[in-house]
Amino acid sequence: MTTLLSSAVKYLKGVGPERATLLEGRGISTVADLLAYLPFRYEDRVRFTPIAEMIPGQFHTVEAEVGTGGGRTLRFARGRGPIFHVTVRDSSGSFDLRFFHGAYLESRLKPGQRLVLYGKVEADPYRSGRLEMVNPQIELLTGGDPASADSTEVGRIVPIYEAIGAISSRLLRRIIYGALANLPSHLADPLPEEIRERLRLPTRREALLDVHFPPKDASLDLLNSFRSPAQVRLIFEEFFYYQLALALGRQREVREAGIAMRVRERGIREALKRVLPFKPTSAQKRVLAEIAADLEKPHPMHRLLEGDVGSGKTIVALEAATIVIENGYQVALMAPTEILAAQHFLSARRVFRQVGYGVDLLVSAQKRAERQVILQRIEGGETQIVVGTHALIEEAVKFHRLGLVIVDEQHRFGVLQRKRLIEKGASAHVLVMTATPIPRTLALTLYGDLDLSLIDEMPPGRTPATTRWAFDTQLASVWEFVRRQVGRGRQAFVLYPVIDESKQELKAATAEYERLAKSVFPNLRVGLLHGRLPNEDKEAVMEEFRRGALQILVATTVIEVGVDVPNATVMVIEHADRFGLAQLHQLRGRVGRGSEKSYCILVAPKTIAGESRERIETMVATSNGFEIAERDLKHRGPGEFFGTRQHGDRAFSFAQPLRDFELLELARREAFGLAENSVRASEIVRRLEATSPLWQKRYQLASVG
Ligand code: ADP
Ligand code: MG
Repeated sequence: MTTLLSSAVKYLKGVGPERATLLEGRGISTVADLLAYLPFRYEDRVRFTPIAEMIPGQFHTVEAEVGTGGGRTLRFARGRGPIFHVTVRDSSGSFDLRFFHGAYLESRLKPGQRLVLYGKVEADPYRSGRLEMVNPQIELLTGGDPASADSTEVGRIVPIYEAIGAISSRLLRRIIYGALANLPSHLADPLPEEIRERLRLPTRREALLDVHFPPKDASLDLLNSFRSPAQVRLIFEEFFYYQLALALGRQREVREAGIAMRVRERGIREALKRVLPFKPTSAQKRVLAEIAADLEKPHPMHRLLEGDVGSGKTIVALEAATIVIENGYQVALMAPTEILAAQHFLSARRVFRQVGYGVDLLVSAQKRAERQVILQRIEGGETQIVVGTHALIEEAVKFHRLGLVIVDEQHRFGVLQRKRLIEKGASAHVLVMTATPIPRTLALTLYGDLDLSLIDEMPPGRTPATTRWAFDTQLASVWEFVRRQVGRGRQAFVLYPVIDESKQELKAATAEYERLAKSVFPNLRVGLLHGRLPNEDKEAVMEEFRRGALQILVATTVIEVGVDVPNATVMVIEHADRFGLAQLHQLRGRVGRGSEKSYCILVAPKTIAGESRERIETMVATSNGFEIAERDLKHRGPGEFFGTRQHGDRAFSFAQPLRDFELLELARREAFGLAENSVRASEIVRRLEATSPLWQKRYQLASVG
């Protein structure tokens, strides 16, 4: 009986209703899903070791025979059930096996029975170091050959799976082996044959067989580094489909008519100069040129502007806005928090004062009447640039002529939110900015439909903040340091992980604010900022801090993104071990924005260990956002990193963008190459739709991203 990839797993041999439920809990309902559940490791159980050459402490595969004579006993240890002991031997020597709950073996391991064993060899200290294996994997030999051809346990390279509930790795091996044994002799292969042959990739059928049960001569090193031909094929394939979806989506956009902006006119150049408050860095200039070139084209721009915290993305965005406004179109700038929106609004107003543009702010906290007025200004075209939060994507917001959408700190928004805003303009240009430095490889996977511009240079006169780890026992000297800095006219942030006292015994912003203001800094002006303050208060506090009226700002992570107060030179983070790496880096980015030397002090107990210790040490060791992002990704996986966990999770079953970046790039080249021939591309997409149920889901996903 053949097993189709589309068959339900519950009909497979060895899978009853109970196991089927467990499997479904892992998203495994068809045979195809099951075969996409790959081993995470492989063990070499091919070579047989003569008993005399076994080394205690190591795993060995041994072919042996149950000894004749006395070496077979079943004992009953109190509370542990029956233990079966048996002595086995080969021509070089003998050793013992011990099986807990091994009563059932007594009738099977008869003297003279030949078998293959795999397990860890130990020296039994109670029997003068005699060697033994406890609960080894065993395979009884019936014919003349060692390890019969369909053994899943020994005599081969054995796949190790992560257990699924009560379904052990061993059980998975048997179920998967059974499914593979009955696969049809021909499987449709959606990967274009020309690409497959040129890259020397195995067929889909070969890949599925080999990835689970590798041939005996396969390289264990390649397998365990996910680079065996079968693994490469499957990883490549996943990236390839995803990239093909991106490529096709991108083609649609390129074909889509957009608004070609005039860029080279004198009036526009002059406006750009008037808007610019300082000499741009060469990275800023280069990036603006890239954006301008996009805006000139009769197709919508889709560009990702990446730059580390403080690299000066805002002014580049405002310059792009200038071009668009000079062309008679409107600009919408969306920020993830009200504080950040308010801040961008203030910068935009300051920058655009010289050129007299209509600048408005739209956030959900505004009063109805005020909001009504702003909505009318936007619809009537009086507003030339509107800055706001997700309030911008609401139904009621209608634009006169939206020409450019700028999304700041993209990772805070869902992909759909971005899309909704874009749809408010007919073919508006899109600029997405992120201060979370995403390694290029990942930018390609998740934003593969965006062109990438990189600001890889800091404005002049910056020195990265000096970062120190202070133990919680050293707080007094930390406050003394803050006092000295404030004495020199600087300002400081003090960060807490929570707003109110909590059960977790974390210091909370409100209580610490009281304490710091009253007893630690009685002569200084201390303010408090957290997410639950009414919006007017938030803005008022931020404004006072910006003006210098407040010297110390006690806050929660509401200030995490984008807040820009160049005179603030100290960032103290209490319970720093409770924050993620990316978050710590963002927070640190709030200082070191002016020309003064700045400091980030991470307060955490001396005793922290493991990952939280590693995070603090990474922060002390480097201020390079890209390095930090990569380390963070290794720990947390891309989904969480982008705050779009599902997105990252559903995108790939086994490919890992960081580990497999070279295959990702290869897949991207191939997919984009293929997409140029639209007839062939759509033929392949049709085949994919027919053979891969996942394709639909992923295709949609990619075209939204
Ligand atoms: P981010 O990239 O994190 O959004 P910002 O755009 O907020 O960074 O810029 C950080 C700070 O650097 C701001 O105070 C900004 O005015 C300043 N800045 C940006 N570009 C330059 C430049 N070329 N020369 C001097 N200061 C600059
Ligand atoms: Mg910013």
